[in-house]
Amino acid sequence: MKFLFNGFSNSRQSAATGNLSLLVEHNGYTILVDTSGSPAQALRIAGLDPLQLDAIMITHAHCDHTYAFPSIIQDMLIGGRTKALRVLGNQKALDVCKKLIGIYNFDKKTTLMPISWEITEDNTVTLSPDMKVTSFALFHRPLMPVQGFIFATSTSKLSFFPDSVATEPYPQAASGSDVVIHEAGGVDADRLHVNQNGHSTGTQAGILAKKLNAGKLIVCHLPSDETSHQLILEDAQRHCIEAELPKVHHWYDL
Ligand SMILES: [Zn+2]
Ligand SMILES: [Zn+2]
Repeated sequence: MKFLFNGFSNSRQSAATGNLSLLVEHNGYTILVDTSGSPAQALRIAGLDPLQLDAIMITHAHCDHTYAFPSIIQDMLIGGRTKALRVLGNQKALDVCKKLIGIYNFDKKTTLMPISWEITEDNTVTLSPDMKVTSFALFHRPLMPVQGFIFATSTSKLSFFPDSVATEPYPQAASGSDVVIHEAGGVDADRLHVNQNGHSTGTQAGILAKKLNAGKLIVCHLPSDETSHQLILEDAQRHCIEAELPKVHHWYDL
């Protein structure tokens, strides 16, 4: 399995990178996780063809995770895609994506490829013969359900904790992950404020990664003020020495 960050900023884009979004690939099966920025361009930069993308997974319905959903659907429509597309997420996230393509009437186009809308809330889905994804609920904001995702093959495990306040009990299915990707919205000195905004600090991400025995932690959904990134990383490294800041458009091999 391998993965890549298309962007790693929080809801405010920085000069260096756009909103958080991932690509995950295993044995030719490709998944886009959240739709922000220019997803079709991001796929092409990563060497992937949007017409061959297998699935889109949406963590939650907030704007910074969904706004470019119609853009990638438009790219597929104009490109003449016929291959069916799977779109997975919780009910609220899928409802927003359906509304977004409805605004542009893409759902009325007879040339639109078949889309399989699959609700994933606290269940495990087989993505390909050798890859499964387990969805788990996280607390972010009231009335905004968020799913984390654990991608597992026979030899590797990748756990993604998007926008959320890290609280125990941690999902045990994420235990022993080769890599944990966790959001970190600020420094621990500002914990109360960060948590009240529905996010975790670098310290909280580091403690979670340590308790889950992760091989590596990558913090993301970082503030647009880049001067805070090193401080967030240092907070995380106090608990998880294998913590890193993300690199954009870079394939990480598991
Ligand atoms: Zn967000
Ligand atoms: Zn959010």
